Amino acid sequence: MDLLISDLHLYEGQKNVPHLFFHFMENIAPESDNLYVLGDLFEYWIGDDFKTELSEQVIACFKQYTAQNKGLFFIHGNRDFLLGDDFLQRCGGVLLPELSIQKIAETPVLLMHGDSLCTLDIDYQNFKKWIRAPQWQAEFLKHTLEQRIAIAQKMREQSQNKQQQSYQQMDNPIMDVNPEEVITVMESQAVHRLIHGHTHRQKIHSLDLKTGPAQRIVLGDWGKTGSYCRCHEGQFELINFS
Ligand code: MN
Repeated sequence: MDLLISDLHLYEGQKNVPHLFFHFMENIAPESDNLYVLGDLFEYWIGDDFKTELSEQVIACFKQYTAQNKGLFFIHGNRDFLLGDDFLQRCGGVLLPELSIQKIAETPVLLMHGDSLCTLDIDYQNFKKWIRAPQWQAEFLKHTLEQRIAIAQKMREQSQNKQQQSYQQMDNPIMDVNPEEVITVMESQAVHRLIHGHTHRQKIHSLDLKTGPAQRIVLGDWGKTGSYCRCHEGQFELINFS
């Protein structure tokens, strides 16, 4: 049995979600063989040398999981794309590329964070090109921790202003995936199932590709409830718990 989660947006001092995460790792994850974390596990990540009580607890949970010979896989989100080798090594996890086909519940599944499917949000796609460039990241990591905290705080404030406008209109198609991009990506990768997060619009969608019927599973974000996808013997199920 495999489990997938995304969009916990964990941060120090956050209410509820850390408890849900620890509950998940103690009571739900141990039944699984593999756990996939499809991005935005943390609200922000400014380098593996930035350690908080919460981040250390999260790493300890993952380490306990992988010590049982279970597979732990990560895909970078748009907020925690600086999760690096030190973090992975301490968790016993493996980083997957932005587009990754994995065998889940005995079937091939395309895994993504999902932000690259939101091609109608031109501002964001331009911003992403800028911050995901190796040179920008190398420069950013050269700053002291204090400087990085200040930069990240400023970027969060800007992004929150923008999100407040857009989340007030959940029907705003610019903030969702571009359906044409979904079809293009799935057909070019020759898959019939895609699982991603990012949009916080938990749902299982059916769609038709040139090559036959397909499924797009959108993971939910965590808040009042935790959310995960449970995959077992060809069955994919979205589950919430509190
Ligand atoms: Mn995201």
